[in-house]
Amino acid sequence: MSEQSQTRALEVLRQYFGYDAFRPGQKQAVEAILHHQDLLAVMPTGAGKSICFQVPALACPGVTLVISPLISLMQDQVRELVAAGIPAAYFNRSLSAAQYKTALARLRQGQYKIVYAAPERLMAPAFLDICRELDISLIAVDEAHCVSQWGQDFRPSYLKIREFIESLSQRPPVAAFTATATGPVRQQIISLLGLQTPVQVVTGFDRPNLTWQVHRESDRLTALTYLIRQHRDQSGIVYCATRKTVEEVAAHLAKRGLSARPYHAGLGEEQRRQTQEDFIYDRIPVIVATNAFGMGINKPDVRYVIHYQMPASMEAYYQEAGRAGRDGDPAQCILLYSPQDLRLQSYMIENGDPNPELSQEEAQLVKKRDMDRLFQMRSYAQSTSCLRSQILRYFGEDPGEDCGKCSNCLADYEDRDVTAMAMAIFAGIVRTGSRFGQKRVIEVLRGADTEFIRSRNLKTNPAYGKLREHTARLLETLVTQLCENGYLQVTGDYPILSLTPKACRAISSHSPVTVKTATSAERYTVLEES
Ligand code: ADP
Ligand code: ZN
Repeated sequence: MSEQSQTRALEVLRQYFGYDAFRPGQKQAVEAILHHQDLLAVMPTGAGKSICFQVPALACPGVTLVISPLISLMQDQVRELVAAGIPAAYFNRSLSAAQYKTALARLRQGQYKIVYAAPERLMAPAFLDICRELDISLIAVDEAHCVSQWGQDFRPSYLKIREFIESLSQRPPVAAFTATATGPVRQQIISLLGLQTPVQVVTGFDRPNLTWQVHRESDRLTALTYLIRQHRDQSGIVYCATRKTVEEVAAHLAKRGLSARPYHAGLGEEQRRQTQEDFIYDRIPVIVATNAFGMGINKPDVRYVIHYQMPASMEAYYQEAGRAGRDGDPAQCILLYSPQDLRLQSYMIENGDPNPELSQEEAQLVKKRDMDRLFQMRSYAQSTSCLRSQILRYFGEDPGEDCGKCSNCLADYEDRDVTAMAMAIFAGIVRTGSRFGQKRVIEVLRGADTEFIRSRNLKTNPAYGKLREHTARLLETLVTQLCENGYLQVTGDYPILSLTPKACRAISSHSPVTVKTATSAERYTVLEES
């Protein structure tokens, strides 16, 4: 950056935003824009993308147009800009006809410095005509991955952006921003937005103040209650995979005297707004939510994010967990994992409403890609190596050294020999025809006298009662560990437990069965009971 424009940019940063220095990545991004170059910036949520286009907007003559898919985000940013004395406005469907007209008139008169627009507004004749006459110094495209058909949040209206840019009388620099974009999606952003040899800035996905943890718990409600009690008086978010689970978990916490509020798309708009506000102003410490919660919510002091169930991808996980610790102070990202989560998520992928914009063939491809992402997520949940390193590697960065503070770095993994019990469990599965889930297999092994056992004549099964001296909880834990360590698998529409080739090899070669266990595995359960 020339010394002059560098000075000007820093001045703007201090004067309008009150910050002393650019963060990593911001400087390069601002520099590219001030040099009239196109830009593709991949920056994780919370890294400070908005500064990258807001500072050049104020340092240049003319108006900056920001294209964003999120109404709430536009409103928040415009409110903050106006409060800082910067003339800004937004154009989206939340405006009344009269408001829209007034805003258009002001736009024509050049009264705004920064203007936000929803993509579907761009080609509206009145808007387009005015833009043709304006001196536009920059077009910033937020959430640029929405242009990609392979992206999670594909928005067909994003495909119009290129047409809009090309119909302007003069092409301003175009800057695209996204939090998650793998190689192919990056290429699509460049080609579908028509970026011209863009400068590419990819900034660190490393968030040194976050501590990553995965806990494999057979009793997740107990673990969750324990964790929330540990964080009493701190703000936290608990993510669940379904609305039903959100309701159940919130009710459970309430019964335990913990004030937590549910949030999901099935609740009324007013109730959701109130919940958000109560959370932001610290009137309630804990939100139990589906992934509907969080978009556009800027609460810097969230001290922990707990995933009560495994999310569908690392992208989703990183984005949701990354809402912790925006203020830079220490915060925890905790995943409570159980092998059943895979089934739930793959069910949702299989049965989710397909995007109507996609052909059948494309929808099939998207499903396959979503399943691949789900398996990557599971590898994270089941792994025993540094969690932070895995995250960085996933997003294309070189992790360097292990973090030394995630649950895997801290765990004393030990190889525990569980041959005798494992063999009994394997036999229990095989002898019952590999057609039952964990619960039923354990009933058989423990010699239970239930309706299910009686109705299927299982008392005469050779596996019946073979592990009757052990508690159900212990057996559940062991089955979970055998899954994690690749001896057992859970498949099918019904949760059916079966042996993997690894287990078959162990049986035929009489080799020992060992599981890696964190020595702290049953900590929460024990503490809760004592
Ligand atoms: P993103 O859009 O990338 O998720 P934001 O633009 O909302 O992130 O910024 C995240 C937070 O970081 C905001 O609270 C913002 O005020 C703060 N921030 C951005 N840039 C800087 C900076 N240079 N110095 C200090 N704080 C910053
Ligand atoms: Zn680590």
